[in-house]
Amino acid sequence: MNNFFKEGYIIKCIICSEEIKLLSDTNLLHQAMWHNGIVDKIAAPFGSIFDGNMYIIGICDKCIKEKEDKLIYVGDYLMTDKDPDLYKVLQPYKEEIIKSSIKRKIEDKKLFNKTKKKQHYLNKIKKK
Ligand SMILES: [Zn+2]
Repeated sequence: MNNFFKEGYIIKCIICSEEIKLLSDTNLLHQAMWHNGIVDKIAAPFGSIFDGNMYIIGICDKCIKEKEDKLIYVGDYLMTDKDPDLYKVLQPYKEEIIKSSIKRKIEDKKLFNKTKKKQHYLNKIKKK
């Protein structure tokens, strides 16, 4: 099956409309790599007039930085071998996990490799 969304596809930041660019072809926008922000899936729960609706939402790096006080930091999925979703659920309640994961972040060579990979894609985008 061909990927519907092609590299370079753009989602605009929900706050400032800054462009967030897809780094590779995909059918799953919320599981792809993006330049300049976060793109993920949100779902309206029971209680919302949009109950059941799901959306793909983007927020650019600049707005993440400016609005960080309004975001709830729940961890870094690069810093754990555990199931990332489970980790996200547990982490807000376990400050010591956050502290130890920050320590691990510094030590984790995987993070270095992923950063190199991200830099490769950023360079690829700049060349275009
Ligand atoms: Zn923005």
